[in-house]
Amino acid sequence: MSATQTPNQYTDEELTFAPADRGTVLVVDDDRLNRAILTRLLRQHGFQSIEAADGPEAVRCVKGRSIDMVLLDIVMPGTSGFDVLTELRQFKSETQLPVIMVSDDDNSDHVVRALGERANDFLTKPIDAAVTIARISAHMRLMKSQHALKESEERYSLATAGANDGLWDWNLLTNEVYYSPRWIELLGMSAIGTAPEEWFSRIHPDDKACVESELQAHLGDVTPHFEAELRIKHNDGDYRWMLCRGMAVRADGGNAHRIAGSMRDITNGKFADAVTGLPNRILLCERVQARLNGFSADPTQSFAILYLDLDNFKLINDTLGHDAGDRLLTAVARRLERVTRSGQSLVARLGGDEFAILINNVASKAELDNFAERLLQNFASPFSPGGGAREVFATVSIGISMASDRCKRAEDMLREADTAMYKAKAQGKACYRTFDPEMQENVSYRLRLESQLRRALDRREFVLNYQPLVSLPGGEVIGFEALIRWQHPKLGLVSPAEFIPIAEETGLIVPIGQWVLETACDQLVAWKREFPHKQDLQMAVNVSRRQMRHTNLLKDVTAILGTTGIQSGDLKLEITEGTIMDDPEQGAKLLGELRDRGVKIAIDDFGTGYSSLACLHSLPLDTLKIDQSFVARMTGSGDSLAIVRTILRLAESFGFDVVAEGIETENQHNMLSSMHCHFGQGYLYSPPLPATAAAELLTENHSWDYQRAITGRGV
Ligand code: C2E
Ligand code: MG
Ligand code: MG
Repeated sequence: MSATQTPNQYTDEELTFAPADRGTVLVVDDDRLNRAILTRLLRQHGFQSIEAADGPEAVRCVKGRSIDMVLLDIVMPGTSGFDVLTELRQFKSETQLPVIMVSDDDNSDHVVRALGERANDFLTKPIDAAVTIARISAHMRLMKSQHALKESEERYSLATAGANDGLWDWNLLTNEVYYSPRWIELLGMSAIGTAPEEWFSRIHPDDKACVESELQAHLGDVTPHFEAELRIKHNDGDYRWMLCRGMAVRADGGNAHRIAGSMRDITNGKFADAVTGLPNRILLCERVQARLNGFSADPTQSFAILYLDLDNFKLINDTLGHDAGDRLLTAVARRLERVTRSGQSLVARLGGDEFAILINNVASKAELDNFAERLLQNFASPFSPGGGAREVFATVSIGISMASDRCKRAEDMLREADTAMYKAKAQGKACYRTFDPEMQENVSYRLRLESQLRRALDRREFVLNYQPLVSLPGGEVIGFEALIRWQHPKLGLVSPAEFIPIAEETGLIVPIGQWVLETACDQLVAWKREFPHKQDLQMAVNVSRRQMRHTNLLKDVTAILGTTGIQSGDLKLEITEGTIMDDPEQGAKLLGELRDRGVKIAIDDFGTGYSSLACLHSLPLDTLKIDQSFVARMTGSGDSLAIVRTILRLAESFGFDVVAEGIETENQHNMLSSMHCHFGQGYLYSPPLPATAAAELLTENHSWDYQRAITGRGV
């Protein structure tokens, strides 16, 4: 093979400034001198060069090293350049590895064959240095730009495949729009045409003008880009909020001929509740309103709203803290979504511990009942919002409102569902009720009660009744339980069972509780003064949940002990079991502090909660009051008698006294006495009495009717 022309036209200076690494070229030639000349030429122009003396070595190099381009001699002993090319092309395409064939002459057969076998270019010996470098440079550039293009194409397709955004590309000359599959999917469709109307006809009428003016502003080059938040109708009939962005491509004159951009569904972001990620009240109302409009046009499009309120959220929030509260809400949200996962419904958080579910296409009331039952069952298993092992049970009360012509606005329907939910709460919680117009009246009764309760203290409408606590079996009055009564000027006597829960919810229990405590203590002091032989008399006062959690209870009690002059050992606070079990640690601390001041502690309604015995043992207690339901059923066939016996044994081993509540019959009195129950309370001895009537029980010559009966039988 003949030698090549030497690149004598380059000065040393130029060579020094040749750009550094312009790529690696593999020079394949059986002639050592040819290789050396080419290598020198390449290096002078900033390329790296690797040499191969024959075909197999060339293939090895390409496989083993990073080669950007091959200069391949055609005529070589053994494997020809064509054979090498064929082999290389089996694993590297023209764009991956440009190959320039080098031939001894201008043999046109060679040129045709080389290009046919997918060589990228052709050079003839003796090679012209300038032409060679120019060709090599051109192919290098081409390859690099092809690589860059491919990379960017890949990046683009990866990005679009992974992105949540839909893409659109509008050719303003042909007036055709390319909508990406994601764009189409965002609107719940599988295929659409290429007309701009596919988009514009779905825009909410109220948003159209704004979108058009934004678009014009950008196309007219007034704004640097197009951006609009708009509602677009989804295939399911609802509007979704979308964020559309775009940018025009302009010809030299500045006229836009194309505009392309993205579309993102921001419905959730715009209307999501920050804690749970659920749609919020605004979005719910919007959807409900759309349904109501549909319903008024076509009453067969029935739907319903379920209004849910957690029954004990405040308690969990107060005892476990706000973080745990938030986690509980989120867990509830996920549970609700799981139950309703059918595409037929929308779960929203209304705020606080209230949620709502919109259910479409309701076939019957029975279907709704089923669904509500399923929801309730779903809350039967506990949550662990504290992250730890501590589990809490969260129950819900549910109110249902079905679409009707009573409601024209979403708010009306929500109010109906809310009213029904209140009814469910009033009827024992953890249940559901469906709205009927009669409920409205009951709710206004409750509201009336609430507003009147606020004024009852000032108007001195509360009185205390006193029910005696007696020793067993003798029946000596050892103290009283103070029980509040509300003497309402119009409604008459309102039972504490009715107004205490309202007072709890509104926080009024705190001032009311203070009044009870003060009045009862005053009364005890007065009785002791009046009846000197009754110096051991005790006064029991009920303390409700909210009072226990109120930070001032200890302070209030201490103050009242001071102002009324009652001896602290004579005051006993009755606290229900559940109240302590809400937060045994905190409860124990407070009880300990109260007891340090000498106040006695009784657990009220004992046996109805779920105290752990270990916990009970560690609590600073004096008395257990057996709940009246056990006393009532003691003579029956159930296990109440066994429970009463167990409580008595338990109390004995822990050193607590026991009061049996709700004793109504002599039989109960006798059974309890024979089981060595220390004290009793109930209608058998006396109902709760006004103070003056109660005082009569304290006179020295007072004798009980029941006592005669008992003593008459020799108990
Ligand atoms: P409680 O503390 O368990 O009070 C005992 C309830 O049983 C009283 O109902 C009493 O009248 C009733 N009772 C007494 N003996 C018998 C009987 O032999 N048979 C039957 N069936 N019932 C009997 P009341 O007065 O209606 O009070 C209901 C609940 O209201 C009380 O249950 C207590 O939890 C709450 N409460 C009453 N007064 C106050 C108060 O001043 N403050 C607070 N926080 N709660 C109070
Ligand atoms: Mg009580
Ligand atoms: Mg009780």
